[in-house]
Amino acid sequence: MKFGKQHLHDLPVSDITTLGAYSDQLQLEAEFRGEILPPPVRLQIGEPNYRTPEHIRQAAIESIANEIQTYTPTAGWPWLRELLAEKIARVNGYEVKPINTVIAPGGTGALQAALLTIVGPGDEVLIPDPCWPLYIPQLAVTGAAPVRYPLDPQGEWLPDIRQLGKLLTPRTRALIINTPGNPTGAVFPQEVVSDLLTFAHDHDLYLISDECYDEILFEGQHVSPSSLLSPAEFESGRFIGIYTFSKSYAMTGWRIGYAVAGTQLIKTLTDVLNANFTSLSTSTQRAAAAALTSPQDCVTEMCEGYRERRDLVVKLLKEYNRYVYTPHGAFYTLIDVRGKNGESHSGRSFVLDLIRERNVSVAPGTSFGSISAEYIRISLAAPMEDLERGIREICLFADR
Ligand code: PLP
Repeated sequence: MKFGKQHLHDLPVSDITTLGAYSDQLQLEAEFRGEILPPPVRLQIGEPNYRTPEHIRQAAIESIANEIQTYTPTAGWPWLRELLAEKIARVNGYEVKPINTVIAPGGTGALQAALLTIVGPGDEVLIPDPCWPLYIPQLAVTGAAPVRYPLDPQGEWLPDIRQLGKLLTPRTRALIINTPGNPTGAVFPQEVVSDLLTFAHDHDLYLISDECYDEILFEGQHVSPSSLLSPAEFESGRFIGIYTFSKSYAMTGWRIGYAVAGTQLIKTLTDVLNANFTSLSTSTQRAAAAALTSPQDCVTEMCEGYRERRDLVVKLLKEYNRYVYTPHGAFYTLIDVRGKNGESHSGRSFVLDLIRERNVSVAPGTSFGSISAEYIRISLAAPMEDLERGIREICLFADR
């Protein structure tokens, strides 16, 4: 039997997808048997629970009706790249030219292209523990190996630069950072970002800054590493910023994100994107342009919605004595689910029991790394009443 490359075939199936299917299956079976389950609460998925705003949809509809839908320039139409450069100045605080931007199929496509551009077999890439699970298969596609650096649960899930230094080898090529972070919701303060930049510089590493949640911020400031660089340092090509329309504008299904880097590096990235995807549709690019040119109230409103949910979750966790930290951005929080006497509830079995017994689904901390093993991740992109019931059930279940 042929099954492709062994190391790709052997990648584990995502727990988060499997759990969703499992909870739906249990629900169906119960309905079939005529049993009444408690109302389902689904907190495992990292996807905005808002509809893409109407003016964004309308722009795509008009494009489909009125424009020819041919191949487009790989890096994106000039009118969109112009807007991307403006957004980078407005939100991320650094000046770039349109030629420093390139669009991609989501932040995922931008990240995969960035990795294919800079690393290959034998290389090592530093990634956070815990982190967004897809970094692992993305690295597997390039042949490079992930090396995890710890985020500190007792220190607001921030990295410790001294720990990073211990993980360097002659094969280390790149460092991935993610702020605001998935699954932690941590937002790195300026000193941390600045230390990470210095670290990348001192050890001649590429720095990929995954800023897909840059506009989902509850307090404080999002610091893009590139905002701390001189134009010449930015042009040197060490830094790649990764952005997306998925989260800020509830556009996960549209598949549009972008990368920002120095002129020479973006040329290589564009070649990789051309080889992989050719281009994105004009209608999607019109939707993205509408998102950027219209008033940003939708972004503020969605963010406000997540903040209310965050506040509710923090309040409930304090009530149940399970509060560890406050997430300041993105729309997730990790919850320590150790038993009252410190018993381990690590991994899938706690999560499976929680679905079976309370009809509440969450993502196991083990999906994101080993440091989060005793935690579960919940998404704040859920109705308030679901979060309220979900958090109560999770805490009672962990205490039982
Ligand atoms: N980076 C992080 C940390 C994420 O959580 C996600 C999606 O969940 C992405 C990148 C990619 O998102 P998209 O491909 O929808 O832009």
